[in-house]
Amino acid sequence: MPPDGDLTGRKLIKVAGIVQGVGFRPFVYNLACGLNLSGHVFNHSAGVDIEVEGAQEALARFERDLTRMAPPLAHIISVTSAVIPAKGSKSFTIVESQSAGPKSALIAPDSDVCGDCLRELFDPSDRRHRYPFINCTNCGPRFTIVTAIPYDRPNTTMDSFVMCADCRAEYGNPADRRFHAQPIACPVCGPKVALLDSSFNPAPDTDAIRGAARLLSDGAILAIKGIGGYHLACDAQNEEALLKLRARKRRDEKPFAVMTPDIATLRLFADVSDSEAAILQSRQHPITLVKKLLPSALGSCAPSNRYLGAMLPYSPLHHLLFDDRPYNALVMTSANLSDEPIVYTEEEAKEKLAGIADYFLVHDRPIHNKADDSIEKVMSHGSVVIRRSRGYTPVPIQLDREYPPTLAVGAELKNAFCLIKGDKAYLSAHMGDLKYESALESFRFGVERLMEILDIAKPTAVAYDMHPNYLSTVFAEEFPCERKIAVQHHHAHLVSLMAERHKTDPAIGVVFDGTGYGLDGTIWGGEFLVGDPGGFERHGTITPLPLIGGDAAIKEPYRIALGVLFGMYGEGLPPLPIEWLENMEPNRLTLLRQAYDRRINTFYSHGVGRLFDAVSALIGVRPKASFEGQSAMELEMAVANGYHGNYPFVIGGDGTPAKLDFTPTFARIVEDMKRGESVPVIAARFHETVAQGALAMVGMISGKTGLKDVFLSGGVFQNTVLSDRLGTLLETDGFAVFRHGRVPPNDGGVALGQAVIAARTLI
Ligand code: ZN
Ligand code: ZN
Ligand code: FE
Repeated sequence: MPPDGDLTGRKLIKVAGIVQGVGFRPFVYNLACGLNLSGHVFNHSAGVDIEVEGAQEALARFERDLTRMAPPLAHIISVTSAVIPAKGSKSFTIVESQSAGPKSALIAPDSDVCGDCLRELFDPSDRRHRYPFINCTNCGPRFTIVTAIPYDRPNTTMDSFVMCADCRAEYGNPADRRFHAQPIACPVCGPKVALLDSSFNPAPDTDAIRGAARLLSDGAILAIKGIGGYHLACDAQNEEALLKLRARKRRDEKPFAVMTPDIATLRLFADVSDSEAAILQSRQHPITLVKKLLPSALGSCAPSNRYLGAMLPYSPLHHLLFDDRPYNALVMTSANLSDEPIVYTEEEAKEKLAGIADYFLVHDRPIHNKADDSIEKVMSHGSVVIRRSRGYTPVPIQLDREYPPTLAVGAELKNAFCLIKGDKAYLSAHMGDLKYESALESFRFGVERLMEILDIAKPTAVAYDMHPNYLSTVFAEEFPCERKIAVQHHHAHLVSLMAERHKTDPAIGVVFDGTGYGLDGTIWGGEFLVGDPGGFERHGTITPLPLIGGDAAIKEPYRIALGVLFGMYGEGLPPLPIEWLENMEPNRLTLLRQAYDRRINTFYSHGVGRLFDAVSALIGVRPKASFEGQSAMELEMAVANGYHGNYPFVIGGDGTPAKLDFTPTFARIVEDMKRGESVPVIAARFHETVAQGALAMVGMISGKTGLKDVFLSGGVFQNTVLSDRLGTLLETDGFAVFRHGRVPPNDGGVALGQAVIAARTLI
């Protein structure tokens, strides 16, 4: 053993971050043994502690390689090291978990199956050949199967499976790549798949997965239990099956996500850039929006949509379903009715999917934390997460300091909530639209579960949106906690981005959004704020547009366009080349006119989403939408390539707030329409106008305040054309531009901003 003298020593090294359940202890073990160091490593609820003893040179090398060579799923936040007295230990050991003390250890997100496991999966001589639950310390399910921390087998849904002798040997062997892989399993001891018919009785096939693949290629609809919930699947090139699925799921036009076996196959259907391919193949394996090749061979997967939501197989089961290539692409859409939350238990599947799926491919490894597939879109500044779920949760956002435990309940439509514990903010998985009873229920349940997993008995404060009717607000009002903190919607958007980018200094926020409750009780949504987590001022907004029929105008944007035309022309409309207007019954036109004139169920919205809706309707792209945001989205997709100039706009008002007025824009759009200008060119000019308008407004605010940092947040920045163009314009003018990446720009990110704003008032 090491000779005496100062050539040897012992060190205590504490590692914090995602270091449990990712093969960190075996990695440490192998690193220490390889350097001839003795000591031990153990998991505890706050991270991993290591004591190493041996030659100084080896100790230095150990510390360097500890972070440099850490396993792929590890996410190290901090490493501290101290010299301690030598103990003369003889070997290096892994000590069992200690479960006492505060629970703050982080849990890894779910990961796609790794290359090593894939090779074994298709190796006929391997004992896990074609075993759909193959995993190792570098891959497999994590957060979705965790029931408590620290992350150890008894705290996962694998608890009920007793390891066989072979698995136990691998699990206990430090040289094995499954050493302490908590979800370890094999065909002898682990979970099993089963193919069931529509009434949940076993189907006759002996091989469930081959049977499922055969049914899919024959045009059947299958409910398939995955990592975070069920998918509804069918052959994406079988139009009949697609139409059947749409009808049964009551989903007329909303796009279905598609899974192809690999990038090469996806390229038969879509134009996939290198950065998109990288996202598709990342650990998270999100749904990635890629440009469809036209005419599309995937008929009604994503009708009237230039993009296709695509993903690659991420679980071993997916890979097996594509073995032998019975089809080129599968629809893999979250199993739910309409927009309800994803189904994730067998009971729910039986109850809710009975009328939709012809067969069920199920398994007996329970999902504890459900998670939809995450959705991403690549823009010029990087990839933007639009729906944050599987693969990302529960990776926390690092905050500037420690805060008292805070719960933020988020908005309503694309709800996600957030919990702050210590110096980290945990943004939940996508919960969906809380107006659905089932979504509200899973939100309540999700809050409870995450508090339990993070060991927060009671938050010090609960933050909520100022909108009095949001169901999240109602939940916050009833939540047993003394401090309730209301946060303005767009302030929360701005601060969600500041938190993501680790900024706290005052800056200009351009928050372009659909709908948000303003301080004055009106609907805001195109806001130019100056603020920080401590507060904000509203320096500018866009001139509000009339929504005839109130909320009905969100799905029928022609009502907004009509209101704009009424405003433009006063009494009586001249003949205009607008199809829906020409076809409108005179009685209906009179009725809408009266509603507008007398302000019956007609209110005004500052939302930029509504501005895009109005233009989309006006030029005939999408006068009526089948889901929120569809009109605006299709307007973006209509944009012609290249530069086509812009329309006029006006900045008015006395500056408190200043008003960015697009009335002259509408007048010129109508002129262009009369001249027979093409829709793509008008759409391009309109996008350029909004970007130029925002640039002018930011320039004005910067002139007054001297601020040069600009944050772009709000759901409208899912629009790549606008985000890219405004970013370029601002950067050209010398501004530092910050945009979203891993935190959604839409309401899925609002809870993070709420939490940070509220937590700051507690210190
Ligand atoms: Zn693996
Ligand atoms: Zn086994
Ligand atoms: Fe919003």
